[in-house]
Amino acid sequence: KTIIDAHNVSKTFNPKTIPVHAVQNVHVHIEEGEFVALVGPSGSGKSTLLNMMGGLDEPTEGTVFIDGIQITTLSENKLIDFRLHNIGFVFQAFNLIPVLTAKENVGFVLQLQHMPKNDRKKRVLSLLEDVGLEDKINSKPSELSGGQQQRVAVARALASKPKIILADEPTANLDSKSAANLLDIMAKLNKEEKITFLFSTHDQESD
Ligand code: ADP
Ligand code: ADP
Repeated sequence: KTIIDAHNVSKTFNPKTIPVHAVQNVHVHIEEGEFVALVGPSGSGKSTLLNMMGGLDEPTEGTVFIDGIQITTLSENKLIDFRLHNIGFVFQAFNLIPVLTAKENVGFVLQLQHMPKNDRKKRVLSLLEDVGLEDKINSKPSELSGGQQQRVAVARALASKPKIILADEPTANLDSKSAANLLDIMAKLNKEEKITFLFSTHDQESD
């Protein structure tokens, strides 16, 4: 089953002043359950492409279908709702909320979805177990290593049971050991939970 189907997607920034053709005529076809790395040097348009696949950035041209829904024609409100239920995002800079603990950073997504408190607690704990952080549930981001913070971010991205995780250079700020560990966790989640992963990286081989 096709989960991401993008046709002829282009993005031009500043079309009226000094145009930057960040992405030009790209086709993306990803089947459910695939584990896909988007590889290219810095500035090659990886973030822009991922943002368009996730409905964070609107293509200048082309269409994006996620699980059969054409997200490029959804209204802003429908798009926000669609993202919340279907797509998990992981960013290079972790983007956790600094004043919240690991469990709060993960649980907050479920609170937005009005999940009852007991179900929420169970789910948060199980997600943090999945990423090997059951002993860090009460730690704030400042008390966690980069690798641990990124694992919280992955748990948070999974909270709403998305079909797809889009990860923009998730290992860029990690040492090679933490990076390998994060990739192992992502691969395990892909295999065991059948989550489709599309992630970018600027290195050809994981060192
Ligand atoms: P990558 O993720 O591969 O490093 P990006 O998608 O971030 O590449 O950037 C692709 C190109 O688009 C670069 O030339 C970058 O400078 C440009 N670009 C990205 N975002 C913007 C923006 N908001 N406004 C103008 N140019 C941008
Ligand atoms: P609130 O009363 O605002 O829900 P809590 O501290 O009880 O505040 O919970 C914050 C978030 O952390 C919630 O999403 C909750 O599900 C989760 N959470 C709270 N306690 C635990 C726990 N012991 N194990 C796992 N998750 C928890």
